Amino acid sequence: MNTRNDWVARSLQHVWHPCTQMQHHETVPLIPVSHGRGAWLYDMEGKRYLDAISSWWVNLFGHANPRINAALKDQLDQLEHAMLAGFTHAPVIELSEKLAALTSHQLGHCFYASDGASAVEIALKMSFHSWRNRGQTDKQEFICIQGSYHGETVGALAVTDVSLFREAYGPMLQRAHVVASPDARLAQEGETAADVALRAAADLERVLQQREGKIAAVIIEPLVQCATGMAMHDPVYLRRLRELCNQYHVHLIADEIAVGCGRSGTFFACESAQIWPDFLCLSKGISGGYLPLSLVMTTDAVYQSFYDADVRRGFLHSHSYTGNPLACRAALATLAIFAEDDVLAQNRRKAQMFADAFAPLHDDPRVRHVRQQGMIFAFDAIVDDAEKAVTFSRRFFSAALQQELLMRPIGRSVYLMPPYILSDDEIALLAQKTMKVFEEVMA
Ligand SMILES: *Cc1c(COP(=O)(O)O)cnc(C)c1O
Repeated sequence: MNTRNDWVARSLQHVWHPCTQMQHHETVPLIPVSHGRGAWLYDMEGKRYLDAISSWWVNLFGHANPRINAALKDQLDQLEHAMLAGFTHAPVIELSEKLAALTSHQLGHCFYASDGASAVEIALKMSFHSWRNRGQTDKQEFICIQGSYHGETVGALAVTDVSLFREAYGPMLQRAHVVASPDARLAQEGETAADVALRAAADLERVLQQREGKIAAVIIEPLVQCATGMAMHDPVYLRRLRELCNQYHVHLIADEIAVGCGRSGTFFACESAQIWPDFLCLSKGISGGYLPLSLVMTTDAVYQSFYDADVRRGFLHSHSYTGNPLACRAALATLAIFAEDDVLAQNRRKAQMFADAFAPLHDDPRVRHVRQQGMIFAFDAIVDDAEKAVTFSRRFFSAALQQELLMRPIGRSVYLMPPYILSDDEIALLAQKTMKVFEEVMA
């Protein structure tokens, strides 16, 4: 009765799947997952798939991780949830303390939500409201970077520059200023990545000048714009951005929802440029990929701008599950693994293994822009045939499944964003199978 095909049919009948043209499931298979162990997902026929994209960039230490499972089982018997207005609890306190310490207390105040887009909404609203509380009511506009992705709720979509996601909703959105991308792939003959970054920073400065006194904040995905196709930039852009924000009295919002939690090589991506933003958004990996959790960290200056006897000067934003104890406990278990296993050092070694395995791609005429930042690897396939170019991603996904891989290229950008627990053998297997799939799709 409950065969794999039954589950698929029932899902297609009643579950509206995210980020999907449902009709494509007439040809692209839907995979009913039964369980996960480590880096592997198993379907209902016992077929396995190496989760090379960490289940949409959230899973850091594998599925059914024993340490996170144990922490959650313990928490479940203590407290599953309590409202965070007027009440508090150990997991949310300890998590906030640990995260603040990781920023050397530069960002010492944590505000919680449940998903990435909500964290972005919070950062935008907090910036706007903070200026307003200080009497700077003209600062109402936001700047985002070409190709940016900050989530798909209406406020977050307004600072997102991926046309596929925003096209249909244009009239609903409060348009932000979009400035030049520092994407290193835009280097012209003789230009370095740093040159591209500084050229893009000059465009940002032009808008800051033109709109002086009107801009509340600039929002950026530090080092890697993931959703637009793993566009990477030189850290000099972040240093220049910090200088410009100081000079023009504008907040800097770092959306580290994808690149935070060690993904870019340092725990926070901003650390690699030795800067701190005014707001830092975290989600995805922070709970180890277990439970919906997001948060915005901010400075004492921002916090103090809300601290007052007047209720209306407070930040009156909430979500039902704000600071959920189970999610916070999963996050604490995740941070404990970072500390106990010296994960950042381990990842440097693993990242080098990937770099070595993919080195031949640098000389492959079918490939451009082989790139890497920490535990993110990407390259662009050159597909001349227009029709094949459009279907590249779907064909790659299907061919990857045949090789026991879960991979979803973004356009023609093939990428890996694997969980950090891969063994050396799994890294070798993943690299070898990725190449095999690529050969098949390009044939
Ligand atoms: C995924 C993502 C978001 C949105 O997070 P959701 O949890 O999907 O709402 C925002 N910003 C970046 C950089 C992301 O990668």
